[in-house]
Amino acid sequence: MREKYVDSHIHLNEYSEERISSLCGRDDVVLIAVSEDLRSSLTNISIEKRCPNVRAAVGIHPWNVGKVSADELAKVLELVGSVGFVGEVGLDKRFTPETFDLQLKIFSEFVTRALSSRKALLLHAAGAWREVLEILSRSAVETAVIHWYTGPLEYLKNIEELGYFIGVNVALLRQPKMREVVKQAPLDIMLTESDGPYEYRGLRLEPELIPELIREIAVIKGVEIEEVVTAVYNNYLKLVGRWWGSNK
Ligand SMILES: [Zn+2]
Repeated sequence: MREKYVDSHIHLNEYSEERISSLCGRDDVVLIAVSEDLRSSLTNISIEKRCPNVRAAVGIHPWNVGKVSADELAKVLELVGSVGFVGEVGLDKRFTPETFDLQLKIFSEFVTRALSSRKALLLHAAGAWREVLEILSRSAVETAVIHWYTGPLEYLKNIEELGYFIGVNVALLRQPKMREVVKQAPLDIMLTESDGPYEYRGLRLEPELIPELIREIAVIKGVEIEEVVTAVYNNYLKLVGRWWGSNK
């Protein structure tokens, strides 16, 4: 059976072996496993190897830039060539403004590497929506997903014109701003995501909530559920089809 649901942002490495096994190999959901450092990058690559429905991303999360040695950074950059995606990388002015200069430096290294190896970027941009979009467009990045997009609504047009996608998080079930974004954004730039295993306002963010998220998106957009499922899956296919060497 064809894969139906898409979780474009999950921290699979943080789950138990048992939980990973229950998600691994399922034919109704495809998962993009994002990483935060060298260790999670290696773990997610090993999960990708044994799970046909998992695609690994490697990267250093903007929250971790202060903890990473030059050697660790070099090793993660080296891994970019062996996966389809670079993430979770980006900038954060909201939660970790104190390391912003270092974030800029490390983020630009990942952008350069993603461009030279033709990989898609999966971005964290909390409080730095404008800065991240400026860097992406200035660097002529073609393929990017702005994870959990709750930035200014007026940037949605730019995101669409640049050919990027936004991650719609299952937190929409509790977060009015996420709902506003879905109201304004066209279906053909949306990907769904959990950001599991995190919690948001008491809601455990899990890929099992994605069907419910899809139903909510359908209500907000006034379309059939099937139309949303198909649009999101097609967006996913576009995303993977844009990088070279895609074979899953
Ligand atoms: Zn995340």
